[in-house]
Formats: sequence, structure tokens, C-alpha cells
Amino acid sequence: MADVTVRGAGIFGLSIAWECLERGASVQVIDPGGIGAGASGGIVGALAPHVPENWNEKKAFQFESLIAGEAFWQKVADWAGIETSYARTGRVQPLADTRAEELARARAESARELWQGKAEWRVVSGDELDSPLPESPTGLFVFDTLTARMAPRQACKALAAAIIRRGGRIVPDGGEQGQVIHATGVQGLEELSAHFGRTVGNGVKGQGALLRFDMRDAPQIFVDGVHIVPHWDGTVAVGSTSERDYSSPTETDAQLDSVIVRARAAVPALEGAEVIERWAGVRPRTKSRAPMLGAHPIHAGQFIANGGFKIGFGMAIKVGEVMAELVLEGRDTIPQDFRPEASL
Ligand SMILES: Cc1cc2nc3c(=O)[nH]c(=O)nc-3n(C[C@H](O)[C@H](O)[C@H](O)COP(=O)(O)OP(=O)(O)OC[C@H]3O[C@@H](n4cnc5c(N)ncnc54)[C@H](O)[C@@H]3O)c2cc1C
Repeated sequence: MADVTVRGAGIFGLSIAWECLERGASVQVIDPGGIGAGASGGIVGALAPHVPENWNEKKAFQFESLIAGEAFWQKVADWAGIETSYARTGRVQPLADTRAEELARARAESARELWQGKAEWRVVSGDELDSPLPESPTGLFVFDTLTARMAPRQACKALAAAIIRRGGRIVPDGGEQGQVIHATGVQGLEELSAHFGRTVGNGVKGQGALLRFDMRDAPQIFVDGVHIVPHWDGTVAVGSTSERDYSSPTETDAQLDSVIVRARAAVPALEGAEVIERWAGVRPRTKSRAPMLGAHPIHAGQFIANGGFKIGFGMAIKVGEVMAELVLEGRDTIPQDFRPEASL
């Protein structure tokens, strides 16, 4: 008998399973699609912070999750014995004009307090950065040291391997045992919407591409709305589209071509880089846009962890922590805005 059954082997379900193992529980994860079958099986993997201003519970939650990344993934690597693909390599963003520069300098100040000296938000000139860069009209960039990257599919594979090495089970089907947590992504939100007869959450499709270009130690770049994320294996991911209306959840199209064109225009080093994969998936977005964590609204006595939307990987560690505390210890530290009621 397992103490905990997690439905869903995406990054939310796997992180919860891991945190339950950390607390000594026995765990099974059930997913008929296998590991990373949903949004978590993608290729982009920017773990980027909210801007350090107008602080609130959601930003604090994400900050704690991002800061926990290095220790978390090191431990996963030790158990899994395979590459996790995680590294805190930072991020650069060009500053377009004097107004953007002033704002960035003010944020550098507020980051000193809000990020507690654990990471920096700096204004730097291009000469200070030894990596491929986009044009910057001011010659200046924001460089933050909090942003990390990971290849989502590889990270899920490593976390799943670590869970199994630690005695957890990951199976395609089987009976629920012990406490049950539903981390079923967009399917879970569709189930809620169908039950309540109104939209509780929905899918937002995203498309990304993987290019062969080795800049693995360089910071990622955010420019012209595009994330350019160098990965551990000599590839660079570019993404993503954001589509509320779509007919096929998994097909890529001309909207992705446009993302690739914008990335190459911004970073000429990518001009000749071969596209080796095109990928599309559907992000689980709740009505409130915040994660949905807590008691399951329709499965009495069970729990839900959903709504990672665009930053599910960035928040997953903290989601795992608060869910394990709630389910195993009855301690509720979930932010008010993340409760299911916010979207019902
Ligand atoms: C193109 C794209 C780019 C993205 N980029 C980033 C990024 O750069 N940074 C970031 O932080 N986030 C990013 N995201 C968002 C991130 O991928 C999601 O927030 C995250 O993967 C959601 O994880 P999840 O575990 O909740 O859901 P999913 O990964 O969708 O997992 C849900 C799982 O539940 C399973 N399931 C469904 N029904 C059942 C059932 N009844 N029983 C058992 N299992 C079931 C499914 O098979 C699936 O494996 C991106 C998403 C997309 C699409």
C-alpha cells in the first residue's frame, strides 16, 4: 500500500511525489500517458522570475521555488545518476531606451531587498557579458542571476528516475491508494469545467523549437517577446507562442516559423543553426491564472495541484513542498490566491 497516489507524471505530479518521498511517505504515480506526456514534455524550460517590484504572495512563492532550484536538482541528480539539465545561468534582456534603463535601475534597487541578497538584477553593458547577445539600442542589458534553465523533458526523466531509485512507483494504471492528489494538467481543468458547467480553466497552446547551436553556459535571452534558452546538450530552445484558440494541440505551424525568425533576427549567431525539433503542447491555465492547489473541488477527501500555466516549471518545487505538507502533515501554507475557490 502506498501512502500517497499522485495522478499525473508531469512536473507538478513528479515534484509532489518527490517531496512526499522526502518526508518519508511511500508513493505511487499513475499516468496512462507515461512520464512528461503533457505540457511538461516540452523543450523550452526558462525558469525566469517575475520582476522584483510590487511584491505579493505569488511572486514570493515563485521566488522561493526558484531559489530552491540548485539544491533540489543537485539532490535529484545524485539519486537519478543522469543529467537533470538544470543550471542557474541567468538571463539577459536588452534595454530599449532611457525609460527602460531607469526602470531597470529602480528594479535593481528593489531586487536588493526583495531577493534578499540571494540573486541580483543588474544593469550591465554588452562588454561585460561574454556571450551571444541581441542588439541593444542603449548598449545596456538587464542581467539577472536568478533565472535558470532546464530541458523540460530531460528534467522530468531525471526526476522520475530519482523517484524510482528512492522506492517510488510510476505506473500507467492501477488503483488509488492512500491520499490522492490530482496533478492532471489540462485534462483536470476540463473535468472541472464539465462538472460545474462553466469555464474553471482552459488550455493555452504553445509552440517552441529546438536549434542546434552550442552556447550551453551562456545566459538565456529574452528579446522581442521570445525566450532563447541555451541547453546542456548543445541545443538552444526558442519559444513560445500563446494560443487560446487552436484546433490541434500538438501540431506546429507558421506561428512557430515567426518565433524562429524573430529569434534569429535578434541573435544573428542563430542564423545558420539547424532546427532539429518543433514541438507544441497545451498549458493548463485556471480562470484566475494562478495555480490551483488544495482540496479537490469534486473528488471529496482528495487534492488538486494544477494551473502551472506559463511558469509551471518555475513553481514546481514549491508546489511539491506545500502539497506534501498539506497532504501528509495537515499543514496548510498555500497562498490565498492559489486556492481552488479563486477559479470556481
Ligand atoms: C510551449 C510551452 C512552453 C513552456 N515554457 C515554459 C517555460 O519556459 N518555463 C516554465 O516554467 N513553464 C513553461 N511552460 C509551462 C509548463 O510546461 C506547464 O506549466 C507545466 O508543464 C504543467 O505541468 P503539469 O504537471 O501541471 O501538467 P502536465 O505536464 O500537462 O501533466 C499532466 C499529466 O497528467 C496526465 N493525466 C491526465 N489525466 C490523467 C488521469 N485521469 N490520471 C492520471 N494521469 C492523468 C497526463 O497524461 C499528463 O502527463 C511551457 C508550456 C508550453 C506548452
